[in-house]
Amino acid sequence: MTATSATITEALKSVKGPDGKDIVTSGKLSGIVVTGGKVFCSLTVDAAEAQAWESVRRQAEEVIKATPGVASVLIALTAEKRPGSPSAAPQAASQGGPGSQPAAKAAPGVPGVKAIIAVASGKGGVGKSTTAVNLALGLQSLGLKVGVLDADIYGPSMPRLLALKGKPELLGGRTLKPMEAYGLKVMSIGFLIDEDTPMIWRGPMVQSAITQMLREVDWAPLDVIVVDMPPGTGDAQLTLAQQVPLAGAVIVSTPQDLALIDARRGIAMFKRVDVPVLGLIENMSYFLCPHCGERSDIFSHGGARREADRWSVPFLGEIPLELKIREMSDSGKPIVASEPDGSYAKIYKDIAAKVRATLEGSAGKRAAPKIVIES
Ligand code: ADP
Repeated sequence: MTATSATITEALKSVKGPDGKDIVTSGKLSGIVVTGGKVFCSLTVDAAEAQAWESVRRQAEEVIKATPGVASVLIALTAEKRPGSPSAAPQAASQGGPGSQPAAKAAPGVPGVKAIIAVASGKGGVGKSTTAVNLALGLQSLGLKVGVLDADIYGPSMPRLLALKGKPELLGGRTLKPMEAYGLKVMSIGFLIDEDTPMIWRGPMVQSAITQMLREVDWAPLDVIVVDMPPGTGDAQLTLAQQVPLAGAVIVSTPQDLALIDARRGIAMFKRVDVPVLGLIENMSYFLCPHCGERSDIFSHGGARREADRWSVPFLGEIPLELKIREMSDSGKPIVASEPDGSYAKIYKDIAAKVRATLEGSAGKRAAPKIVIES
């Protein structure tokens, strides 16, 4: 028998909240997603009552598990920002009038993790994930303990980029042990869901999956977690930028104008939620001929540097369009790990050094990045 959101909803009518009402009719339950026997949903409750709801969440998980056709279940408890307030639209956070309080508080940090940074892009296919993983390895080469959180729910790529298979181990309770590759601790939504099964993600689902990957994974101790964000600047990304306690964000763009317009949206999005933009990276910036070594600027390169200047954000570097970067990436051996002394690794390591300098300058707090903009 196949489980559907209707059968799950029916089963959950037997679960009552601390208020004595069942969780379906009380409206606490949202966005049930069932895919290949895996069930995801969230319970949105008043923050002050979160403790009391934890046992309800567990009970609901047991009920779902016992439903025919269910292989696994994940229910997240999400707290409403303000009791009684309508669910705060992310946009509302930074639009208060003069003297008004910000609607949302900064998300709490992750114990034992000094800083969390996002790698984002205005659109897909610009090499965001490739850059994220090589940047993480670059930070590691500087002596930092590094984790990678693949939050790209639309196309998780860390399992492929790091040739990781299997499921993370459960360490007791609800804590998952991160997977490991090249000394990096790694968590990806791709480990939890079937990569080939298309999933429809609804707002609360995105939030709860990310919250769990951040807070119910044994990350500590780490100097930095690099978050590979979903591409784009829609609501899901904005919510993530607010939910994850980010010390800063790095934006990846290709030189083409269109991508730059998208990058601009990315910069604006992080500024709107008060996350410092650590800088802009131009990926697939120029082409080095593998035969003669001649450099060609196939896509009017340099646009990202100009854009960074215009937006007063640091320019972090240019990464060439290079077959080897793609081949290594796609075969699960990122170039910084497979050719650590090569010229491409050096580019990522130099970018990593700038990112680290900025993070140290701001001590991982949401302060303005202290970085010199190169002319
Ligand atoms: P995104 O995360 O933005 O969707 P990916 O990192 O998955 O992008 O990259 C998209 C494709 O481009 C992949 O096949 C990847 O190997 C390739 N790629 C990324 N950066 C480079 C580069 N600098 N040179 C050549 N290929 C690249």
